Amino acid sequence: MSNIISTRLLILGSGPAGLTAAIYAARAGLSPVVVQGIQPGGQLTTTTDVENYPGFRGVIQGPWLMEEMQAQAEHVGTKMVWDHVSEVDLGRRPFVVKGDNGTYHADTLVIATGAQAKWLGLPSEERMKGKGASACATCDGFFYRGKKVAVIGGGNTAVEEALYLTNHSQDVTLIHRRSSFRAEKILQDRLFANPHINVVWNSEVAEFVAGGEPEGLVGLDIRDVKTGEVSRIDVDGAFVAIGHSPATELFAGKLKLDDDGYIEVETGTTKASVPGVFACGDVMDKIYRQAVTAAGTGCMAALDAEKFLAEEEYEAIAAE
Ligand code: FAD
Ligand code: NAP
Repeated sequence: MSNIISTRLLILGSGPAGLTAAIYAARAGLSPVVVQGIQPGGQLTTTTDVENYPGFRGVIQGPWLMEEMQAQAEHVGTKMVWDHVSEVDLGRRPFVVKGDNGTYHADTLVIATGAQAKWLGLPSEERMKGKGASACATCDGFFYRGKKVAVIGGGNTAVEEALYLTNHSQDVTLIHRRSSFRAEKILQDRLFANPHINVVWNSEVAEFVAGGEPEGLVGLDIRDVKTGEVSRIDVDGAFVAIGHSPATELFAGKLKLDDDGYIEVETGTTKASVPGVFACGDVMDKIYRQAVTAAGTGCMAALDAEKFLAEEEYEAIAAE
């Protein structure tokens, strides 16, 4: 028979959002349970240097930061469960959540399942991840001070990342597969006015070119989609900005999602469309997507859940 865990607050996801929600909920006496998912610690465990998480002078390691967050969450009373959720029933309370290893009955639910950057899918891109290929200019741009960089994409993210990178580099190339951007006009105006950004239209990346010792990115082979002609540009860093996929398949038809699949929350809160369900971190944020903002909304989700439970209890007592 499947193992059943009942809890006042179940948190799905163990990235900065889920673990911060856990720290606050545990300290509020809710004895939260965190289902870790197949990526314990979340996206930051896939990177090395983190230089922008407050409280640390210099560079810290992403996996280390997430181990510390988990240790802190457990220290204050969080139960961590190694499981991956495959089904949720939000139509009754307690909510019923099914994982590969057990079933969870939860009075409230915090969803912190994150999002994954989309990649081009080239083997040479895979090989260069962490060695020059990145999906986050805000995270890694600083490491390319004074170097040549490229951004791939044509939406708001790509244009914003190209603009952001000019804080560090005087030589930014934006590569887009069509001859017009889908980014907002105001961003395009800023981009075209910036002398440090060169746009390469109607082009796609054919290869990430490796070189040097230790191995790193030295260039990109770019194919003109109209002529098929391939040319090489020298770059030290390439930022793929072709969108993200929020991990919300489980909630389709059960919670309101926006057109890009992100969980919709009531403005200024983490309340999702079903009372008692809260969302935090990258799964509800397609703009900032940072560890510190994920942690911030994780804190909000725990406080929102705690208030929800307290109000429910107060109403139950008042009705007696
Ligand atoms: P995530 O970290 O994505 O965590 C999601 C969690 O949900 C995971 O634990 C996963 O296992 C779990 N999960 C997913 N589906 C399920 C399921 N069905 N059942 C159970 N669990 C599930 N940000 C910075 O601020 N600074 C940086 O330097 C920085 N560098 C980065 C480098 C890289 C390579 C990447 C990819 C991201 C970087 N970021 C950085 C961004 C930062 O990592 C994210 O913004 C942050 O991790 C989002 O936190 P989150 O908790 O919302 O989600
Ligand atoms: P997006 O709007 O989906 O744009 C993705 C871009 O990548 C498109 O230009 C697309 O090209 C290109 N692309 C997709 N797959 C590709 C591939 N395989 N190879 C090459 N190019 C590819 O994604 P986004 O820019 O991340 O934005 C996502 C959402 O967040 C949007 O709603 C956006 O408005 C929002 N956002 C808002 C802000 C802001 O308000 N400041 C900031 C960032 C993001 P095509 O154009 O040819 O399809």
